[in-house]
Amino acid sequence: MTFSFSHKIDALNRVLLPKELLAMLGWERGDTLSLRYDEEAGARVSLYLLAKYTEPTCFNCASVDIVITVDSKAVCGDCLKETLEKLQVSAG
Ligand SMILES: [Zn+2]
Repeated sequence: MTFSFSHKIDALNRVLLPKELLAMLGWERGDTLSLRYDEEAGARVSLYLLAKYTEPTCFNCASVDIVITVDSKAVCGDCLKETLEKLQVSAG
């Protein structure tokens, strides 16, 4: 199967992918794509699905209600509050 489309690069250097193409490939909004340029293959540009988007989860309880990320670890509001309360008890 082949699929081709033409689209101008917009003022923000974006190219929109047709929703028919996304549906055909099983790609969704939020997925991460990788673009590869190959000069030896006739300056071919290929676009690959790199990873499905995964919502960040709290490192402690796996909640998706994230309020802060510290050193690439996401923390939910309940765990942040609990940690702050423990810190206040141990400091006071
Ligand atoms: Zn949590």
